[in-house]
Amino acid sequence: MNVNDLLRKHIKSIKAYSTARAEFSGQASVFLDANENALAAGGYNRYPDPLQMKLRQRIAELKKIDVGHIFLGNGSDEVIDLLIRAFCEPARDQIITLPPTYGMYQVAADINNINIKEVALDENFQPDVGRILNEMTAYTRILFICSPNNPTGNLVKRELVLKLASSFTGIVVLDEAYIDFAAPGSSALSLLEQFPNLVILQTFSKAWGLAGIRLGMAFASKKIITILNKIKLPYNVNEFTQQHALEALKQEALVARWIEETIVLRELLRNELTEVACVRKVFDSDANFLLVQVRDAAAVYAFLLQKGIVVRDRSGQPGCSDCLRVTVGTAQENRSLVQAFKEFND
Ligand SMILES: *Cc1c(COP(=O)(O)O)cnc(C)c1O
Repeated sequence: MNVNDLLRKHIKSIKAYSTARAEFSGQASVFLDANENALAAGGYNRYPDPLQMKLRQRIAELKKIDVGHIFLGNGSDEVIDLLIRAFCEPARDQIITLPPTYGMYQVAADINNINIKEVALDENFQPDVGRILNEMTAYTRILFICSPNNPTGNLVKRELVLKLASSFTGIVVLDEAYIDFAAPGSSALSLLEQFPNLVILQTFSKAWGLAGIRLGMAFASKKIITILNKIKLPYNVNEFTQQHALEALKQEALVARWIEETIVLRELLRNELTEVACVRKVFDSDANFLLVQVRDAAAVYAFLLQKGIVVRDRSGQPGCSDCLRVTVGTAQENRSLVQAFKEFND
């Protein structure tokens, strides 16, 4: 498969905006080419590096992947939108999503006027490969797989990812926002070389504790990275975010401890919730949240809210009737949550 054949025709021929920094990237001592305020001090008066070279090189070391296979976005949400805009022709093309899953795939498709075919996950929240391939048409461009899946928390089996990546004739996006909480070796990053149509999304928003700086990562073939660079806004990752991420990347050991602690807290919370009267089931999780099936989700949700605790009611999603999604909090927050659950009388 040639990724460029999937690209929207008009995008092949457009020229990307050429920034001052792209047109001159050599050494100089006086920069009068970008209409910046030379009088201002503080480190933020200059436009940021549009291609985030330092940060991408650091991420390349961390992920043991060539820098040419890395794209950074204003959160992975930006990358989801860019992928749809690159490969899907509005009012004609289609994406496939696997509900229950992350809502942004649908929102980004809706905004871009792209059709969505939903193929529900099976009773174990795994993709139904046969049905997905059956739903593929000449206009199907992207398949979104989320692993560990939000809101169900489970990993998608490696063999199913492999089957889909090799048989799906469009772009396969594997969203690994929660991969740091899964067992080591669960990431599909090593599959990239094999599949030029595979895009893996990760983020600084979850395990890295940096949802506020908006930094998402996409790993893919050089062809796909080149396409994303061509259509992105020139300065999509701001200077503060780039600097802050470079600092955070020195704290790998701290992040590893957070992950370990979150997993311990998750399992503790899971055990305690299982004992609560109004709880029917707590699903296994490879992420930093739990999907909890209760007797009456709307009532429990409202009760928790009265106690000042906000969770996510996911009961509207297929296969998630009466399910609440709760994020693993601090030990104290989790105790408050369990206590509130216990006080609920249905
Ligand atoms: C939280 C989350 C993201 C992260 O999005 P950012 O824009 O990077 O904050 C992506 N995908 C899924 C499934 C998520 O739950």
